[in-house]
Amino acid sequence: SALALTATVAACGSSEKTIDKEAASGNTSGALVGVTMPTRSSERWIHDGENVKSSLEKLGYKVDLQYAENDIPTQVNQIENQITKGAKLLIIASIDGTALTTQLQQAADNKIPVISYDRLIRNSPNVDYYTTFDNFKVGVQQATSLLVGLKLLNADGSAGSAKGPFNVELFAGSPDDNNATFFFNGAMSVLKPFIDKGTVKVKSGQTDFKTVAILRWDPATAQKRMEDILTKTYTGAKVDGVLSPYDGLSIGILSALKSNGYGTSGQPYPIVTGQDAELASVKSIIAGEQYSTIFKDTRELAKITVTMADTVLKGGKPAVNNTKDYDNGNKVVPAQLLEPMIVDKSNYQKALVDTGYYTAAQLGG
Ligand code: BGC
Repeated sequence: SALALTATVAACGSSEKTIDKEAASGNTSGALVGVTMPTRSSERWIHDGENVKSSLEKLGYKVDLQYAENDIPTQVNQIENQITKGAKLLIIASIDGTALTTQLQQAADNKIPVISYDRLIRNSPNVDYYTTFDNFKVGVQQATSLLVGLKLLNADGSAGSAKGPFNVELFAGSPDDNNATFFFNGAMSVLKPFIDKGTVKVKSGQTDFKTVAILRWDPATAQKRMEDILTKTYTGAKVDGVLSPYDGLSIGILSALKSNGYGTSGQPYPIVTGQDAELASVKSIIAGEQYSTIFKDTRELAKITVTMADTVLKGGKPAVNNTKDYDNGNKVVPAQLLEPMIVDKSNYQKALVDTGYYTAAQLGG
């Protein structure tokens, strides 16, 4: 009856692409799925890759999982190889979202559907679906948490007890990652009124995306930029807050601060945000160094992506909940978005330990 159901769904025929006949008949058992992830240098992508792979295998698919260590030509080759090996569907978390147009055309020519994973692939009509978190909201949450940490806001959004002005510096992610702009715009939608009022001051004067963006999300680049800012702008002044879009960057930023005398009882660390709830950063939050992170449950992202892949491979039309926000420069890609969540010292136990994302032992070590 599962087969009959699949056939009915396929017969309703609203999917946008002609899917392989064998697949449309429901006979997808053992089909190869190509999964490409950007890098192993950040924990989250390791979890993503493992979760996607094991869930697909449980459904009977074969999986080719590749990491490219942030090297664009390597990722291009991996995708080409997967197409040559006969992959029936591709799940891609891109490095440079604009660099895959040729490979995606090849996929389309071979009737291979493509799901853009977490990061939107740009400038191609051949992106069928997108699974991610609400990326604008991630930025809104980062900035909100920064203001709560500074006590300019209360957690419920009402005005906090502090008046400011506070010195805040801004960082953004990699300019070739579509998400980075969404995070930054989301954050600025919250910070701008405070900057305009003068309660938040960006003392370096560096407030536009291009100036504050960190290529390839590289922690060392962020550390260097923070050091330069401290040297040029903060002699005789102190930093009160740093908008950091990713835990790896936060680690670099905190070490620049540390080597400039922050992190003592006389001069505590500023409020530093983050993203991904990576193990080292959650420990840093518990130790009172980093202030907060944004938790995006990669188990959930893997789950909705695999359900989507399975539905598409069986000729069905997968669920999406956003058909307006993710224009890739060529089309608006139908997306399935999950909700991100602010995690700080007050709720890490509930959010990360009680849900089994980490064990208490992992965080205690
Ligand atoms: C992801 C973030 C991650 C960043 C760096 C972004 O595309 O959405 O979760 O922190 O890449 O890896």
